[in-house]
Amino acid sequence: MAKKQYAIIGMGRFGSSVARALSGMGFDVLAIDADEQRTQEISNIVTHAVSADSTDEEALRALGIRNFDVVVVAIGEDIQASILTTLILKDLGVPAIIAKAKSELHGKVLGKIGADKVIYPERDMGMRVAHHLASPNILDYIELSPDYSILDMKVSGSMLGKNLQELDIRAKYGCNVMAIRQGEEMNISPRAEDRLIDGDILVIVGHKDNLTKLEIEYQ
Ligand code: ATP
Repeated sequence: MAKKQYAIIGMGRFGSSVARALSGMGFDVLAIDADEQRTQEISNIVTHAVSADSTDEEALRALGIRNFDVVVVAIGEDIQASILTTLILKDLGVPAIIAKAKSELHGKVLGKIGADKVIYPERDMGMRVAHHLASPNILDYIELSPDYSILDMKVSGSMLGKNLQELDIRAKYGCNVMAIRQGEEMNISPRAEDRLIDGDILVIVGHKDNLTKLEIEYQ
């Protein structure tokens, strides 16, 4: 299978981090930014770096943007540029467009004009940090959909020494323990009789309301 080709538009903190990570994984990455200094900075990390205004349809066409499998629009501040760019990419027939949004409204517009996935890095990271601050046993919180999330919870207090059957998280809270992590080790098919010890981290999936109840109970 041919390696996927990625183009990232906007080399701010988010866009350049995506570009670096994909390059590090060995993918071909085209980095685009209107600011020449920004493209210069990333040029020895990615396959190609080009200075271009992504609201200029001809410029994108000339770069052969429609031949890329995935294009990430990582422009945040200039909402108009982000929307115009997404619209042009859609018109040109890019198969998968991932667009970063600064606000719910911005994200809604991006979705309506054809972004295949809208991401909210600031909002999502804010939520993850908030859950950790509210309850230090929550090490991470990842939103799967508007209703469902995954959380990583450090085993503590009354959980210690119990097994999953005794905890009865599924019946009490309607949530599922998907895995138990201990350091680098990951038990991905935990059994009812698995006993929890200090240092264990539960990876739990569930409805947000139920996860909140669980967080409060074990904070
Ligand atoms: P971050 O939070 O990721 O640092 P941001 O959300 O603040 O970024 P901006 O700084 O607005 O986003 O934009 C990121 C990059 O996008 C900037 O380097 C900017 O030069 C570039 N950019 C903005 N508009 C365009 C455009 N029309 N064409 C190409 N690049 C653009």
